[in-house]
Amino acid sequence: MPVETTNWAGNYTFRAAEHVSPSSVEEIQHLVRSRPRLKALGRRHSFNSIADTTGTHISLDRLKSTTLDSDARTVTVGAGISYGELAPWLDRRGFALHNLASLPHISVAGACATATHGSGLGNACLAEAVSAIEFVDGRGNLHKLTRASHPGQFFGAVVGCGALGIVTSLSLDLLPTFQVAQTVYENLLFETLASHLPGIFASGYSVSLFTDWQGHRATQAWVKRRVPAESVEPASFFGATRQTRDLHPLPDHFAQSCTPQQGIPGPWHDRLPHFCMEFTPSSGAELQSEYFVPIADGFAAITAVESLRERITPHLFISELRTVAADEHWLSMAHQRDSLAIHFTWKPEWSAVREILPLIEARLAPFRARPHWAKLFTMPHATLRSLYPRFSEYEALRRHFDPEGRLASDFHDPPE
Ligand SMILES: Cc1cc2nc3c(=O)[nH]c(=O)nc-3n(C[C@H](O)[C@H](O)[C@H](O)COP(=O)(O)OP(=O)(O)OC[C@H]3O[C@@H](n4cnc5c(N)ncnc54)[C@H](O)[C@@H]3O)c2cc1C
Repeated sequence: MPVETTNWAGNYTFRAAEHVSPSSVEEIQHLVRSRPRLKALGRRHSFNSIADTTGTHISLDRLKSTTLDSDARTVTVGAGISYGELAPWLDRRGFALHNLASLPHISVAGACATATHGSGLGNACLAEAVSAIEFVDGRGNLHKLTRASHPGQFFGAVVGCGALGIVTSLSLDLLPTFQVAQTVYENLLFETLASHLPGIFASGYSVSLFTDWQGHRATQAWVKRRVPAESVEPASFFGATRQTRDLHPLPDHFAQSCTPQQGIPGPWHDRLPHFCMEFTPSSGAELQSEYFVPIADGFAAITAVESLRERITPHLFISELRTVAADEHWLSMAHQRDSLAIHFTWKPEWSAVREILPLIEARLAPFRARPHWAKLFTMPHATLRSLYPRFSEYEALRRHFDPEGRLASDFHDPPE
């Protein structure tokens, strides 16, 4: 297979000098010991340099094993597997994961490393399912940390942003499989959001609102209900109108790439993501940014961003509002904060977007907004560090597992 030299969106060209796909943990250990600089590469869906290195890119795509422990309700997976490969396999065996991102194409290891999330008031990020992590550190030593036995290091290592080692396998907690029905509503007025934000996001297992920031409204509300437990499906949702045809969240995009809607029940893995595995998710040529604020500040933060709508909308495909439950992972954007995530899918117009992001970051600064690690942001590293109470412990963990800085890069240690 030809080696990809850019990320999925094509907005970032990797600087890695070499790309290797080892087939065993021993081979990874040998590679780490013999290379001065390296970094694991997942499915290339990040929008910034987080996955890059000037040395060797290690792809885990030959490590995709799956070992199910039905009694303990866990699965241990090779770090190269994607959610699109794992989820149907689990479903056929009667199990589910608690949540999924908007797309199934990403690797489990890459998603957990960046605190990737879906939506749902009660749903923490995807890393929350991890109960054990095995990785080769920067000196080539293999470690296994579990939630139960190593809580001190575990919560710093799972959302590790690729800087602690090469993850070789992860164990994930499972639920019994479940069915979800997804309904899309159009035109939910922001006034309603002002008074009912928690109620709107509590209306389903996973709720997403989309907006172009014009007209003081969400263009679409995607409500994913567990069935039969949450099967009530009103024709009107807080004043928004139920749709009788499938829709794509981006204007002028065909709905065939989206998971089935109109309240038709289906397996969790075919409803929780917005996009299907066999199609290009979202738009393709695009940029993404996302900021996490405490949910209690959610409407104030929405209003702050809305005040920039004349700057934002011309360069935007769509924005998405989701909720993420708090967790304990040191670098999770929802660390100890039930969060509202304000997402931007931008047109591929970086010169304009890079001027707008500082304005958004300034408006969201009073809410101590944390940017998504895998998306585009402009705030200085010192500001980033100040947003995470355990950042210095994470840096100590990096020094512990990678004392020679083989996994370091400008992303983690930007020049002052
Ligand atoms: C169309 C689209 C939709 C998206 N939707 C969502 C969404 O709904 N929610 C959300 O939160 N994010 C979303 N994202 C962002 C995406 O989830 C993250 O970029 C995620 O990290 C991508 O996983 P990946 O496998 O492509 O990892 P990569 O981008 O390749 O790598 C990400 C990080 O993980 C590290 N990594 C990967 N594998 C390993 C390993 N084996 N060991 C150690 N470190 C490793 C890399 O070094 C890097 O630091 C979306 C992105 C796109 C392009």
